[in-house]
Amino acid sequence: SSERRNVILAKLNDAQSRAVRSKAPTVAILAGPGSGKTHTLTSRVVWLVDCEGFRPEDVVVATFTVKAAREMQERIGKALGSGREKKLVLGTFHSIARRYLAAYGRHIGLAQKFGIADDSDSRAIILRICKRLQLAIDPPAARAWISKRKAKGSGADSDFSSVGAQKLLTKTPAKTAGQRELETCYTEYQSQLERSNLLDYDDLLVRCVELLRKFPSCVSNVKTVLIDEYQDTNGVQYELMKLLAQKHGRITVVGDPDQSIYGWRSAEIRNLWRLLEDYPGAAEISLEENYRSSQSIVTLSLLVIQQDEKRYKKALKPVHNKGSRPVLRRLKNASTEAEWIVSEIRRAILMSGGMLTHNDVAVLLRSAALSRHVESALGKAGVAYRMVGGFKFYDRAEIKTVLDYLRVIHQPENNDALARIMNVPRRGIGEGTVKSLIDEAEKSSLSLWSLLVKHCRGDRAAKTKISKHAEQKISGGLLRLLDSVRKRIEQAANDSSQFGLVEIIQQLLEALSFQKVLQETHPDDHEQRWANVQEFISLANDFVRDLGQNVDDYLPEIDGVQQTKDVDALPRFLANVSLASDAQTKGDDQDNKPLVTLSTIHAAKGLEWPIVFVPAVYNGSIPHMRSEDNDEERRLLYVAMTRAQALLHLSCPLYSSNSNGERNELSPFVKPVAAAFAKKGPCFDRPVMSEIARILERQLPAEQSIYKGMPAMFSTEDSLFPLDPEETREIPAGGAARGGSNVSADASRPKRPRLYG
Ligand code: ATP
Ligand code: MG
Repeated sequence: SSERRNVILAKLNDAQSRAVRSKAPTVAILAGPGSGKTHTLTSRVVWLVDCEGFRPEDVVVATFTVKAAREMQERIGKALGSGREKKLVLGTFHSIARRYLAAYGRHIGLAQKFGIADDSDSRAIILRICKRLQLAIDPPAARAWISKRKAKGSGADSDFSSVGAQKLLTKTPAKTAGQRELETCYTEYQSQLERSNLLDYDDLLVRCVELLRKFPSCVSNVKTVLIDEYQDTNGVQYELMKLLAQKHGRITVVGDPDQSIYGWRSAEIRNLWRLLEDYPGAAEISLEENYRSSQSIVTLSLLVIQQDEKRYKKALKPVHNKGSRPVLRRLKNASTEAEWIVSEIRRAILMSGGMLTHNDVAVLLRSAALSRHVESALGKAGVAYRMVGGFKFYDRAEIKTVLDYLRVIHQPENNDALARIMNVPRRGIGEGTVKSLIDEAEKSSLSLWSLLVKHCRGDRAAKTKISKHAEQKISGGLLRLLDSVRKRIEQAANDSSQFGLVEIIQQLLEALSFQKVLQETHPDDHEQRWANVQEFISLANDFVRDLGQNVDDYLPEIDGVQQTKDVDALPRFLANVSLASDAQTKGDDQDNKPLVTLSTIHAAKGLEWPIVFVPAVYNGSIPHMRSEDNDEERRLLYVAMTRAQALLHLSCPLYSSNSNGERNELSPFVKPVAAAFAKKGPCFDRPVMSEIARILERQLPAEQSIYKGMPAMFSTEDSLFPLDPEETREIPAGGAARGGSNVSADASRPKRPRLYG
């Protein structure tokens, strides 16, 4: 109806509205941060479903992070109503690929129950291969190399299956010794994944490309594909996008080349231009107003990104007023820096008289490793926080153990998971025994599970060197335990009783006597660990609850391509865990208590907060010492700065907090524009606060309620941290300042920042 149309269009400016309504088959929006790209994309989905009659299940929407996908689904849901957003094929490229593979994968020879190897699984496998085959290559570098190979994708005729990839490799002429070792590692890695029936992140995409190429009817219902954060798609994702849209060729992409920060994962800005070549006649629409940030935040961020002279230039005009000048503060060391951040957070919130809460604050870090000081300062001050991106709840030992048991229950041939739980809880099975069993399994091309089963049944062919004692422990302990849980699941399936994911987990914990095990093995902190396990159960519970509503089964039944119904909660839950490594949160939204967000910059992409802190802007942190691409590092800083709506604080510890306390050098991206920053936070008087209120479109409470009885330290500028002349002294370029590290490529260093490690 025209009323619905007007509701959707009312929140859009002219250019955005044109993009939303465009009838062009291909629409490309290249625009700066905060210009409403995501808002436009979301509105277009609503428009297509509501006003153009698209069925939601025929619309594919790809975002870059799980968190962004969730947020977008929520927003679309609000606009569409009646739960129709759940039918959209919406998620990250990886989760979309997984869904198609779960439904149709067996047509390309995929085992029905495949598991997913996440980044840390892949790393562990490669490390083991390098050790076992004594390869003289750096395991992280090998991992990056393999991933690059897989992610590159290529022309329409290339075969993406693993065999094809191997063929590709052996074609390379005149190989160096290093290259040969890499190839050996690659081949071995791939065959181990296959034996364990695992797909790694790259495989998910590569195999889905293979599937959609061979069986285009899997996506014959897809009417249109929409992609957010398009600048960060890599070659395979580009192929996947084309294949998803192969029937109707309708694609909408939005992105910003200035925010391309995944080059280290083979994202190619080139894909932007490739799209325009592959789909001539695309409508290109630019959005030029920034609705997110104050004028001074936009201006300063542009000063940073404009240092890159090769960039694709586009306009970005702030619609908001000037606002407070962003702050650049130098503090003695990382812990004073963290204390300053906490005191600034408290000051701003207190002075806002309730207009701002902890939810409005984010601290964005170049790497997860930097969080320590900020966490402890927040903890000391009793400020609750949530952590996003790169901080792994699921990596806690106790959670990982439970997960590994679940993985093996789901899929016994998962060798790595099985190897990790052989001796957890302690069964007197030594590391040496586990190693020799793995070697044995690898030699005889068996999965570890089949070897153990054979062995324990007294199969001669499987006789290994392990002791009678260990054998008893394995068959009487581990195998029996797993069998009992699995039997219980089967039984429940047969008599169709209510035995869901949570029951499986509880049954497992009971069979393991897990609480008792924790008490014995971790006398000091078993309570915390058990609480984590409880938290895990409640996550599983939430997952099942969402699943109940979100019937994930709208993929079409297609003639000749039979679909496997992917209804079990366990495999979906495990996949969700493996794919959500960017969205893992701790203490998320308990009791709706306002929480400060602690996030990596990578995971903050696309999001916004009224108050943003970017600590550790020193050379070696940003640009990161292990990064090879200075321009990408600059874009990363640009992404961080442009998350802020009203208040932006950069800070830099003068001395590094590690052993020798070297002097840090201010980031070279900030140094040339340092004079444009304020040296300390604003005084938060009435005029400053009402500026902030206007930018955020919020109400500032009546004056009296704020300033009455305010302690002196809060009414003046940050007197807790008086400016020390030493702290603010400008450092001459190339002068005595040392430490941090050299930005130039250094061959002896590992190649890539390992954010998710
Ligand atoms: P990024 O590049 O960081 O992902 P973006 O271009 O996707 O940014 P959005 O997140 O869509 O930008 O929008 C930024 C903010 O501006 C949001 O709070 C959004 O609600 C608001 N906004 C977008 N368009 C308009 C508009 N026409 N009128 C008012 N507010 C708008
Ligand atoms: Mg966006």
